[in-house]
Amino acid sequence: MRKITVIGTGYVGLVSGACFSEIGNRVICCDVDENKINRLRRGEIPIYEPGLQELVERNAKAERLYFTTEVGEAIESSDIIYIAVGTPMSETGEADMRYVMSAAKKIGEHLNGHKIIVNKSTVPVGTGELVREVIQANKKVPWTRFDVVSNPEFLREGSAIADCMSMDRAIIGSDNQEAADVIAELHAPFKTRIFFTDLESAEMIKYAANTFLATKISFINAIANICERVGANVADVSAGMGLDSRIGSKFLQAGIGYGGSCFPKDTYALAHISDKAGYDFELLKSVIRTNQKQRYIVMDKLREAVGGLAGKQVAVLGLAFKPETDDMRYAPSLTIVPELLKQGASVRAYDPIASDSAKRELPSGVHYYERLEQAVNGADVCVILTEWQSVVSMDLALIRSLMKHPVIIDGRNCFDLQVMERFGFEYHSVGRPPVN
Ligand code: NAD
Repeated sequence: MRKITVIGTGYVGLVSGACFSEIGNRVICCDVDENKINRLRRGEIPIYEPGLQELVERNAKAERLYFTTEVGEAIESSDIIYIAVGTPMSETGEADMRYVMSAAKKIGEHLNGHKIIVNKSTVPVGTGELVREVIQANKKVPWTRFDVVSNPEFLREGSAIADCMSMDRAIIGSDNQEAADVIAELHAPFKTRIFFTDLESAEMIKYAANTFLATKISFINAIANICERVGANVADVSAGMGLDSRIGSKFLQAGIGYGGSCFPKDTYALAHISDKAGYDFELLKSVIRTNQKQRYIVMDKLREAVGGLAGKQVAVLGLAFKPETDDMRYAPSLTIVPELLKQGASVRAYDPIASDSAKRELPSGVHYYERLEQAVNGADVCVILTEWQSVVSMDLALIRSLMKHPVIIDGRNCFDLQVMERFGFEYHSVGRPPVN
């Protein structure tokens, strides 16, 4: 049993804190957001993540998992301190490091004995060293020692608990093998592969992995755009490509492009890191541009299909950046919905989970519906932005009968072309021939 404090109780901090407690450790999750901590203490989970409610409840009841806003005290009561605060995109596109730096300062001020400081946040290469300097500079007790480890997180929202409990690999970067071994041992119950490396390489692995996946997505989207022009079907192209084990079928589905809390900011951050390091990462910059354009390609199809959007009723199906999450960060809907309103359309939005978070992010004037059927009722056109199960399995005959005009623009390639033809839809997807 280890005593662990996790600083930052967001998607990553809460899930990994709960998982560390599940395997028998005593974990304190702390956060500066009082509202979040108060809700957690009442047993309410501030984010939507399948299975998290039960996991938190079980471990809090077993007195292995605690929540507090007293970050200093939480640091003092543990010997492993995880930093899991946000590193959002700043205005320049670089990672905003102020939260990591403020956590490091706090750790320095409350260092009351030997501790291992583990960085789980996605951070630019060199942050481990910077964290070490900030802690050192803020130490109140001069003789206290500490080690710094990088242990980047790879969980995916929507399947975060499974990703954490049976992770593919744990990357452990440090220049102190003893500290690295303690963190490796902490991961033993997860029965995962451990990869030891130095601090800088561990930090780089996280960015390299995420930007590689983003590259795969932009690549297949570019192929989709060519498919549309030459009469090929990208679904078959990606299925055929994916059969090659060197390529693999994952992250090879064409669509409206990536969003979410990681890929957009991590691609920008790595482009900045490489610029600063004196390398022009042209490939990555073009991945970013391809992704930005992809949203507008879907938007153009939508406008063309209905002959201008002014006065049109548009049903928007899905607002979250992907299914099984309420996370709206860099979701395609944040581009599409304001553009629809700007062009004079009336927006009828449906999302089974993310409507509340969407209301905070989207302009007023959007009509939200609890049921998909209500959103499509009387619509001139329907645009699919998130492939929620309720969207993928919608009753097409019913939808056809409810819509004013049976036109669907599918940014996620949810439906078979022949099926859409059979149900009498005009159907435009990405990289596949239109159904008219
Ligand atoms: P988040 O915004 O959901 O949570 C961050 C939390 O940190 C917030 O609750 C905030 O109040 C808290 N915080 C900020 N400063 C603090 C401080 N000084 N002391 C205590 N708490 C503080 O962010 P997230 O999505 O959990 O991401 C955290 C990190 O993990 C980021 O670097 C992100 O890139 C990385 N990551 C995220 C995911 C993901 O899917 N969300 C996956 C892998 C890695």
